[in-house]
Amino acid sequence: MIKRYHYARDVEEALSLLAAYEGRGAVLAGGVDIARGLPREIEGLIDIATAGLSGISAADGGIAIGATTTLEEIRTSGTVRGYLGGFLAEVMEHVANWALRNTATLGGAVVSAHPWADIPTALVALGAEVRWRTEERPERAPIEELYGRPFRAIFRRAVLTEIRLPRWDGDFAFEKIARNAGDIALINCACGLGLDAEGKIAWARVAVGATPFRGTRLPGAEGILAGEKPNPDLFAEAGERAAAEAKIGDDIRASAEWRRRVTPVIVRRALERATLRVTRGQ
Ligand SMILES: Cc1cc2nc3c(=O)[nH]c(=O)nc-3n(C[C@H](O)[C@H](O)[C@H](O)COP(=O)(O)OP(=O)(O)OC[C@H]3O[C@@H](n4cnc5c(N)ncnc54)[C@H](O)[C@@H]3O)c2cc1C
Repeated sequence: MIKRYHYARDVEEALSLLAAYEGRGAVLAGGVDIARGLPREIEGLIDIATAGLSGISAADGGIAIGATTTLEEIRTSGTVRGYLGGFLAEVMEHVANWALRNTATLGGAVVSAHPWADIPTALVALGAEVRWRTEERPERAPIEELYGRPFRAIFRRAVLTEIRLPRWDGDFAFEKIARNAGDIALINCACGLGLDAEGKIAWARVAVGATPFRGTRLPGAEGILAGEKPNPDLFAEAGERAAAEAKIGDDIRASAEWRRRVTPVIVRRALERATLRVTRGQ
């Protein structure tokens, strides 16, 4: 049960408060997830909204986004709209509604990492790097690697500070199927590709999420695409491979059977749109 609420002035203060709570403290950013409930053992909330972790900047040809930057700040940022033809801004348009996006933060989305969420799928496809601080040192890891670790336990004693998105010579597209515009995904996917001088696919990224499991890359589908010229049959084959490769199941929102049938469709659509964006941008 919550006994105390703290406002951290900076990351150092947040870290020393987390250390003092010995695992019974939690960082609060936008609070939209925390408002839905917390583990019973949490006694202290450490608000980091004013800890100096908001902002978006160009970095190493890609972009750096501070952990407490809200999803709406990301959606409307000129820097984000200039990155990959506005791919990430497009993803944010699919997230809930304006009121929620105005409070929820990117760091909170990375740590809450709901299996049905759109943001992890997009960040995994993009090869995002997550940066955080512990009391001892700064740390960083590709988001896929972080999700392979007990990341929720890590962030009981650490503060996520920044998400870095790399430069890509190509483009991405995002697809989501939900019951209505503001609803949680029944399935989502993010695909990207780049073309070489001969018009062949130099690299491809395919990630599918809300299956109902958290978004993951599908290397088999990516492998089918690499080295080939984009064409409808190739994208259909990659979609079928994605459906066979993805971990797919039933949940309250959709059946595994339905998800297996729509996965090839959304992967194909995302690949077609990513290709259009690449060829238009050339
Ligand atoms: C009604 C609703 C609809 C949603 N719809 C969508 C959707 O359509 N698509 C989608 O992708 N997502 C969706 N989400 C998920 C949403 O994006 C996340 O819940 C939100 O981004 C969490 O951010 P927050 O800042 O509010 O996190 P908080 O609630 O503040 O924190 C969430 C968790 O992350 C930890 N945390 C937060 N920031 C840090 C940090 N910097 N360092 C360490 N730990 C941290 C907290 O301790 C807590 O455990 C939805 C959520 C809700 C509640």
